[in-house]
Amino acid sequence: MNRLLSSCALSIAIVALVPSATIAQSSPYCPADIVFDNELNFFDVSAFLDSYLEGDLAVDLNNNGNLEFFDISLFLQYFIGGCPDLTDTDGDRLPDFVETDDGIYMDSFGTGTDPLNADTDGDFLSDGDEVLGTVDGLFLTGASPVMKDIFIECDWFAGNFEGRDENYRPTPAVEARLANAFFNASTANPYDLPDGIHIHLDYGQGNGFTGGNQLPGSPVFILFDSDFNNYKAKHFDPIRKGYFHYAIFGDRYNSTLNRSSGVAEFNGDDFMVTMVDYNSTVNMANTIAHELGHNLGLRHGGFENRNRKPNYNSVMNYRHQFNGIDITGSSVGNGVLDYSHGVNIDLNENALLELNGVNGSVAIDWNNDTILDPNPYALNINCNSTFATAPCGSSSGCYDANCDLLRDHDDWDNINWSRLVSGTDRVPTPELIECDNWPGKFLP
Ligand SMILES: [Zn+2]
Repeated sequence: MNRLLSSCALSIAIVALVPSATIAQSSPYCPADIVFDNELNFFDVSAFLDSYLEGDLAVDLNNNGNLEFFDISLFLQYFIGGCPDLTDTDGDRLPDFVETDDGIYMDSFGTGTDPLNADTDGDFLSDGDEVLGTVDGLFLTGASPVMKDIFIECDWFAGNFEGRDENYRPTPAVEARLANAFFNASTANPYDLPDGIHIHLDYGQGNGFTGGNQLPGSPVFILFDSDFNNYKAKHFDPIRKGYFHYAIFGDRYNSTLNRSSGVAEFNGDDFMVTMVDYNSTVNMANTIAHELGHNLGLRHGGFENRNRKPNYNSVMNYRHQFNGIDITGSSVGNGVLDYSHGVNIDLNENALLELNGVNGSVAIDWNNDTILDPNPYALNINCNSTFATAPCGSSSGCYDANCDLLRDHDDWDNINWSRLVSGTDRVPTPELIECDNWPGKFLP
């Protein structure tokens, strides 16, 4: 009797030593390791019994929705069988023996990842989070630990706005257009795997994406970011912080007169896409890429705010946001959604050479005099419409008055992957970029 009592007391004392949050999680690599400390010991027995007696389905080891003798029997089998070597050198919750270091991701028992690098693909989502889900229980559907991933939750408004029936929910066609652009990115992945990024939009379409939802009401505009943050607090699961960008799709922001297509945090996780009366697959997909680009550390001139540079061939540039990038060397958009690959030549507005154009080989008649001038001349060319120009010193119809050195930028190679910090909202006072552009504002 005394021995039994003291054993009970010991058991209670030991259970009290185990942090309650670690009880009954059960490691996928050692199912009897209920307290998740990578070894089998009395803590596991005690925690198992505790959870079993409380009816906690976390110890439903045969996953049949009930606790019964079979779960005890399975636990004992696992306990007696012991754990494999659970050494986890890089601390990413994947034991070294499953990190096969060959770039071939099969499943949680063959991850292809580097056992010495907790984020093998460099997308700032840890290998363990991408394979097992996060410690808070967020499963990252579709994530790969050997190819870069970006996740966006899309919440939208629908209703009658200013006499128009609108539904700003992203569509499968919008998602496909974006997915294609990011899949073809020139952003490198490890192990000589193909370049590219998997972008995942959650607009409530199912198959693991059930976070996106229609927002209640039909406000004509919402304030960024006070209203925005209120909606986010109510409709964005906090366990997604640091893993998902959060985007609201609506009519307008900040005022009833604002025709801007969107607003975004620079190096952040929040943005809005506001399609007013010009919602279409192309306009929405291109604007998602544009606003997301600001989250990823891109400006309207790539590395700088200088806008409408004819040689900056990116949807971040107002010249190309809706018209797509230039694939012929003419500096005019050809409808392709892409960020810049940074291959165009520098343009010195004080000494423009028409024969060089923007790519060094296709001539452009900058001053529109119908002849190709063999000699360099000065002209302000980062202007509002495609063929608008101004003399140096005049900002009429142009982004700025100065004649400068205009430079392209390799967007894909300069994405800020550290913008999200797992489990937290990012910096409290981010820089905001309002995108004062809409179809037809500058370009036909
Ligand atoms: Zn912008």
